[in-house]
Amino acid sequence: MSKVLIIGAGGVGSVVVHKCAQAADVFSEICLASRTIDKCEKIKKQVRRPITTAKVDADHPAEVVALIEKFRPDIVVNTALPYQDLSIMEACLQTGVNYLDTANYEPPDEARFCYKWQWDYHDRFKDKGIMALLGCGFDPGVTNVFCAHALKNHFDQIHTIDILDCNAGTHGHPFATNFNPEINIREITQRGKYFEDGKWFEIDPLSVHVPFDYPEIGPRESYLLYHEEMESLVKNIDGLKRIRFWMTFGQEYLTHLRVLQNVGMTRIDPVEFEGRQVVPLKFLKALLPDPGSLGVNYTGKTNIGCLINGIKGGRKKQYYIYNVCSHADCFREVNAQAVSYTTGVPAMIGALLVVSGTWKGRGVFNVEEFDPAPFMAKLPVYGLAWVEKELDPEKDYLVADENRL
Ligand code: NDP
Repeated sequence: MSKVLIIGAGGVGSVVVHKCAQAADVFSEICLASRTIDKCEKIKKQVRRPITTAKVDADHPAEVVALIEKFRPDIVVNTALPYQDLSIMEACLQTGVNYLDTANYEPPDEARFCYKWQWDYHDRFKDKGIMALLGCGFDPGVTNVFCAHALKNHFDQIHTIDILDCNAGTHGHPFATNFNPEINIREITQRGKYFEDGKWFEIDPLSVHVPFDYPEIGPRESYLLYHEEMESLVKNIDGLKRIRFWMTFGQEYLTHLRVLQNVGMTRIDPVEFEGRQVVPLKFLKALLPDPGSLGVNYTGKTNIGCLINGIKGGRKKQYYIYNVCSHADCFREVNAQAVSYTTGVPAMIGALLVVSGTWKGRGVFNVEEFDPAPFMAKLPVYGLAWVEKELDPEKDYLVADENRL
């Protein structure tokens, strides 16, 4: 029996709470803490089991240390923002508690997320005899586990990986983001980047796109972006020649984004306004719908997966593995839309594997460094079924729409 402390009462944090509550045989006590206590109380009312709540500003390690010392958790699940990763890791180090998150650190004043800041904690976590599990949402998270599963069971060597993330849902708002607006817009407006033949290549934001035929959804224009799991997969999948990440966007979303960029609303540097310093993107976040509230009328599905090429038994092989998730089904189950759900479920599974000792380590790790089997087995049990199929190894499904799946 284990105690879990979840920090961050947003869309993702709410799903982690609901899912930990479902795994009562593992998580005997749950504490949800966040900057705004009202949000914790609202989630507490939705959960069938009793949970405790607390107010914490996770930008201050001392506040997190005090909370950990009071609640004494076996693991801290960080579902606040990437800005809090290092302060929560510091607090875990000081108190000797395991750590898990779903997004890598980025400094507030610079849209540059990368693992270095967190990987640099490896020796300190190792010396303390605890572990940090990084990027355990869907992408990063399940996509990394899909790659580890493919390597273990379907390939002798993986040469290329294309991660394909499609949200074909409709929430009824002209413009909204499916997770924290500030983090989401920072990610999308930065330059795209992919890895090929040992080098990283940069492209202008959203300048490369192809149609891909997503199962249960159909063809959708998919845009090449930089995404954090590529950094760890390049490090952890030996012999990888190319990795790219693709995400779908509708024309309505892209038009809004372009206008907001053109008028300066996506800037992250402070602007003086009536004697105060205002960061335009933070102000925009205050105007946009809360991602946690989008679920009510959300219809349609998400499909996220990995298209992988490589060699098995001396022959070329192409393999595709994915999950399809319905927004409405997620809302019925846990009051959340599918993007929060597909992130929160794997975070809970990762926490479960750490506290049960199934995934054991001392130091800082990415999920693909562990045996994928127990994680893959738990995914359908907790609501994320996966499908795998072998495709024609001679076809390029990402160049033109004549190559339908
Ligand atoms: P939300 O904005 O809905 O929730 C974030 C929560 O964190 C809010 O409740 C917020 O509190 C709280 N918070 C912010 N700053 C602090 C702080 N200093 N101390 C304590 N609490 C704080 O975001 P999401 O739930 O949509 O996303 C959560 C995380 O999940 C993000 O890091 C995001 O990048 C990641 N993510 C990962 C994905 C994956 O597949 N790997 C996919 C989607 C998201 P307040 O209400 O007071 O602002």
